[in-house]
Amino acid sequence: MRLKFFGAAHEVGRSCILVESANTRILLDCGIKLGEKEEYPVIEDAEFKNIDAIIITHAHLDHVAYLPHVFSTGWKGFAYATKPTFELSNVLISDYLRISNPRNITKEGLARMQKSFRPVEYHKEFQIKDLRIRLIPSGHILGSALVEINGEGKRILYTGDINLRKTKLLDAAQVEHIRADILLTESTYGGDNDIFPSEKELLGKMLESIRETILKGGKIIIPSFAVGRAEEVLFVLDDYIRSGLLPRVPIYVDGMINKAMRIHRHNVIYCREEIQKRILMSEDDPFKSKNFHIIDAKGSRSRAIHEDKAGIIVTTSGMMTGGPVMKYVEKLADNELNKLILVGYQAEGTPGRKLADGARELEINGRRVSIKMAVEFYHLSAHADRPQLQKLVSSLEGLKKIFIVHGEEKKSEEFASYLSNRYEAHLPKLGEEYSV
Ligand SMILES: [Zn+2]
Ligand SMILES: [Zn+2]
Repeated sequence: MRLKFFGAAHEVGRSCILVESANTRILLDCGIKLGEKEEYPVIEDAEFKNIDAIIITHAHLDHVAYLPHVFSTGWKGFAYATKPTFELSNVLISDYLRISNPRNITKEGLARMQKSFRPVEYHKEFQIKDLRIRLIPSGHILGSALVEINGEGKRILYTGDINLRKTKLLDAAQVEHIRADILLTESTYGGDNDIFPSEKELLGKMLESIRETILKGGKIIIPSFAVGRAEEVLFVLDDYIRSGLLPRVPIYVDGMINKAMRIHRHNVIYCREEIQKRILMSEDDPFKSKNFHIIDAKGSRSRAIHEDKAGIIVTTSGMMTGGPVMKYVEKLADNELNKLILVGYQAEGTPGRKLADGARELEINGRRVSIKMAVEFYHLSAHADRPQLQKLVSSLEGLKKIFIVHGEEKKSEEFASYLSNRYEAHLPKLGEEYSV
């Protein structure tokens, strides 16, 4: 078998890996890299006609957003993923296309993409020519999957993005009893110092901080990815209010999160059993809590901003690269009583990362805005940290080779050097090819 890395090589973004047997070629993920400039997988358009199928691990843009381009080149194959991955991808991709307006995307391509989605169930093996493939829950976001590939006597496991801890919404990745000779793993938090405190401890601190701001009458802005973090954060806040740990203040939900919430509810069978039970067996539907105030028109957004009392605003985008969050920050940054709480991954070069690293000024709509409100960072990660990645590696049976992708330079290097004592560990470069 051969592997070729078209993206996510020494970087987080544009995940796209070719797996090739004697007569089959599949791509694992097909994402883009967002940042100051957009970057794409380094695969030539002419190569797509040789690709038999594309497997998508989950709906984040760095794993799926290159699909419109691929189908616009005239590619006639099928894309495989879980049902929620396709539903969430549709929402995220159309939002991305609306904002970014990338060249080369055709109407025909988008229509063909819609017809070429092939939903597959977790654990149900399917076949692409001589490759047998299985998707396994990866614990990262709704519908996210590990991909197991069997062919020519080799077993490959690709993590996509993985979380080995259960969250409010999802069970942990199911990594027990998997045999794999070759592992392709993300390393977002593979650095030597990436050891996360327990979620309980972190949430406890965040709760205290939110309480303090609310009691002073301030507003809290929580920028969040529409898919994954936002739902987790909303469920946690709702629980706190219901149990009296937080005063009853409105939680404003703005942007694409609302659509994503509906897709979560619709696919609740992919969430933890506890959530399913709450919907099926009680009146207590966590997706439709009375504490959530949906912002759907300009008027209600300005109420959320100007209303003279405490409140919590959960909105996109998670790394503050645009979206409604910027409107809130622009209007609320000036007041020291307010607080901005970052909760998710902040990529290098993004405004969110700059604030997390201590910057107190942002450029919003061409205007310098000084950030007088407090800024705090509580890392509620949907990714495995270093100890979890080590656990993943040690729980796989028969593992020999490891390819480390989807990590910033330093972190993936540290992880590789940790692994190199016991395994053949590789840090593939962009466009690099390996025989395995
Ligand atoms: Zn992801
Ligand atoms: Zn990712």
